[in-house]
Amino acid sequence: MPGKCPQCGSRIYLARTTIQTELIEIQNIPCTVCQECGHEQIAQLVQKKIDKLLERAAKGKLKTRMVVM
Ligand SMILES: [Zn+2]
Repeated sequence: MPGKCPQCGSRIYLARTTIQTELIEIQNIPCTVCQECGHEQIAQLVQKKIDKLLERAAKGKLKTRMVVM
């Protein structure tokens, strides 16, 4: 998946990130980071999974406050 940064056109590399909200913490999320400007990008497919998790967390359907992807 690595290609170029949409912000500055520099090279990007694969990394992992964490998203934390009041309700839930999602760890080990695959993403790409630009080596120049640090722009973080999460793939659409992954973002959809995150959205689902956040949605379920908001409805109180998750038993855990921490999810590792
Ligand atoms: Zn960049």
